[in-house]
Amino acid sequence: MCAIFGISDNKEAARLSYLGLHALQHRGQEGSGIVSTDGVNNYVHRRQGLVQDIFNETILNELKGSAAIGHNRYSTTGESSVANLQPLRMKSAMGWVSLVHNGNLVNAKQWVHALEKQGSIFQTTNDTEIIIHLMARSGSTDLVPALVAALKQVEGAYSIIAMNKDTMVAVRDPRGYRPLHMGELMGKPLFASENTAFDLIGAKSVRELEPGEMVEVALGDGRVRSSFPFEKKEPQQCIFEHVYFARPDSNIYGSNVHQVRKALGRKLAEEHPAPNADLVIPVPDSGVPAAIGFSEGARVPFDMGIIRSHYVGRTFIEPKQSIRDFGVRLKLNPVASVIGGKSIVVVDDSLVRGTTSKKLIQHLREAGAREVHLRISSPPITHSCFYGIDTPTREELIGSTHTAEFIRAYIGADSLGYLSREGLIEAAGGVKKGFCHACFSGEYATEIPT
Ligand code: 5GP
Ligand code: MG
Repeated sequence: MCAIFGISDNKEAARLSYLGLHALQHRGQEGSGIVSTDGVNNYVHRRQGLVQDIFNETILNELKGSAAIGHNRYSTTGESSVANLQPLRMKSAMGWVSLVHNGNLVNAKQWVHALEKQGSIFQTTNDTEIIIHLMARSGSTDLVPALVAALKQVEGAYSIIAMNKDTMVAVRDPRGYRPLHMGELMGKPLFASENTAFDLIGAKSVRELEPGEMVEVALGDGRVRSSFPFEKKEPQQCIFEHVYFARPDSNIYGSNVHQVRKALGRKLAEEHPAPNADLVIPVPDSGVPAAIGFSEGARVPFDMGIIRSHYVGRTFIEPKQSIRDFGVRLKLNPVASVIGGKSIVVVDDSLVRGTTSKKLIQHLREAGAREVHLRISSPPITHSCFYGIDTPTREELIGSTHTAEFIRAYIGADSLGYLSREGLIEAAGGVKKGFCHACFSGEYATEIPT
């Protein structure tokens, strides 16, 4: 998954992009970058690491100009390396163009193969570079027609912001797999994956782009033009954004994420009550809103029975003599005084491999829990995502190969209940929202990579 951000006509474009990317850090922690332009030249900084570690005053001062785009990367396709960080930048008949992309193309392999055969030289292992090549080959010297021509030839998920010296353009693929918001600051447009980025910089949220919508901004005068250049498709908006990915303070597809997650929890309590439980506790942070909803729905008290450390970085020194389950303990630790002697309902947003849950349940029992009932506010994940979420391969997804009863026994819970697919869709706003739930159903709306 990734975050994208773009801001036009603001003297502090790079600084505000930095803040926007910081607010969107949860969408990607591998590396970040910003490209800015002053209408003549463009300036770039891309590094591996967290937003607040890779930018500083000096660097931001060098990112001159009044328009900028930025990106946080969480590798989905392509290895993790500096070359794969975005924004991607190229020079062609259109002049300098830079581009940021959230989502994955499903026909990337075929395109790389075809383009390489025709002599294209790829500098990254990133599917986004295909778009750049197709733009350069479009024969157009203008950004917008080149981007439209390129996007008409690719298939899959993309929310994109592209920029040259006089234009910024934001676009969502025809199925709208990934979110993209438009905001306004001092009368000028800006864009972000989630509107929480606008809150931090004092911008107001205008609206989400619609699936298939393209919004062009003429840099310098802030004029905005909306169009729908692609063939219309059935919307496929990623429901996993609501389950796990987006920040609870964001609004996605017209609904506040925190409220949706609480609704998932209430629905879960309806479908899988735990009549004799003493206490509902979340697996923080992702399980918190659903646990609140479960507690409300089931009328069972809520408490924080697991504490999460917020200081777990990428690299840490482990003890030489290995401590059992060190990794899980480092991040999540039970509070014995809260759960001791109690029958507890533990609510988490999703079960992926089952490895965290298994260890966590052991720790909860060691800390004195009498019974542990696991409730998951989404259905079993049975299929990989090809649209931008880094779900593991099908073999690693415990829900794709095993029954709920096997999983319950494996993770050592007294009972296990998953939210149904119907319950999920209903609580997230209903079928009319046009959700993609392929990770829970295997119903892919596109071809999928082989
Ligand atoms: P498991 O018990 O299956 O090993 O892990 C489940 C946990 O993984 C849940 O708490 C859920 O919030 C988290 N999770 C779900 N999807 C993702 C993801 O795409 N990336 C990361 N880092 N965690 C995820
Ligand atoms: Mg979690």
